[in-house]
Amino acid sequence: MVQYQLVNRGIYDERVLKVMSEIPRHEFVPELYRHAAYDDCPLPIGEGQTISQPYMVAIMTQCLELKGKEKVLEIGTGSGYQAAVLSRLAGHVYTIERHEALALKAKLVLQETGCNNVDVITGDGSLGLPDKAPFQGIIVTACAPHIPKSLIDQLEIDGRLIIPIGNPYNQVLHQLVKSEKGVGDRDILECTFVPLIGKEGWKME
Ligand code: SAM
Repeated sequence: MVQYQLVNRGIYDERVLKVMSEIPRHEFVPELYRHAAYDDCPLPIGEGQTISQPYMVAIMTQCLELKGKEKVLEIGTGSGYQAAVLSRLAGHVYTIERHEALALKAKLVLQETGCNNVDVITGDGSLGLPDKAPFQGIIVTACAPHIPKSLIDQLEIDGRLIIPIGNPYNQVLHQLVKSEKGVGDRDILECTFVPLIGKEGWKME
């Protein structure tokens, strides 16, 4: 997985590559799909949601440019796999999931895999987590119609927000960097994520 799907496609952050070669991705995948846990695709995890493709996890993590001590917020816990990757690269991870059943499952597997610096919260993450802000990194693993203002507000100066923006069919992954002068915005790649549903996301379901 690491050589063919990540290195060969240009993932260069050695810390990201190391962590993704160590974390048992199969532990985060439902029994039924475990045989495909290291395949080059997203997989169903229940509640109509997915664990992201390994390459997408790697590029999003690389874009955060973590050094090791950061407080990071993830929106869209899903299986907990992305949070596990972040937990080995940052100081502390808060991760929010709107489906309670997924949040509970993720909490358990994160504990079992020794990710002790992760707090899993159930709720609408489109509003961020103001009580724990500011964050040095925020990563949104669901697609938003626009950049949620709450998330920019909760980002520290020099912090990064990684978020897919677009409609349910065409999205672009953005890397936003907050500075004293404003917010820089760089397009990373085209992608397809499930929708971010909430007050600053899509108002459906
Ligand atoms: N990062 C996940 C992983 O490693 O398995 C994959 C996440 S999946 C592509 C997107 C997740 O975002 C889904 O589990 C979905 O329920 C969740 N989600 C959607 N809108 C949300 C919101 N407003 N707040 C929190 N979670 C949300």
